[in-house]
Amino acid sequence: MPSTRPAINDRSTLREIQDYVWSMNVERGFDLKNPEKKMLLLTEEVGEVAKAIRKLSGLKFTETMQQTELAEEIADVFIVLTGLASLTGIDLFDAFMKKEEKNIERVWK
Ligand SMILES: [Mg+2]
Repeated sequence: MPSTRPAINDRSTLREIQDYVWSMNVERGFDLKNPEKKMLLLTEEVGEVAKAIRKLSGLKFTETMQQTELAEEIADVFIVLTGLASLTGIDLFDAFMKKEEKNIERVWK
């Protein structure tokens, strides 16, 4: 069966990446209706980032392996967060831009 997944590369926009992640959610048979399940998964992935960071201070693995693991866990968080945005009808780029406009005006103390 030919894939309908959009192609992404190092010049892809955030919208193209969000579309790609959503198509992968569909292709992999992930739940497409319950934001609660996606939020649980996001929490789990954030926990894996915490574990990878904790390992950075350990001696079990080489520094390169630890950095690779951390990069993969951070990517997992991005992927699941992007899927959650799609599932709840949010354009992540648009949301980012609008929030950043507010952040720019905010006084940070
Ligand atoms: Mg993970």
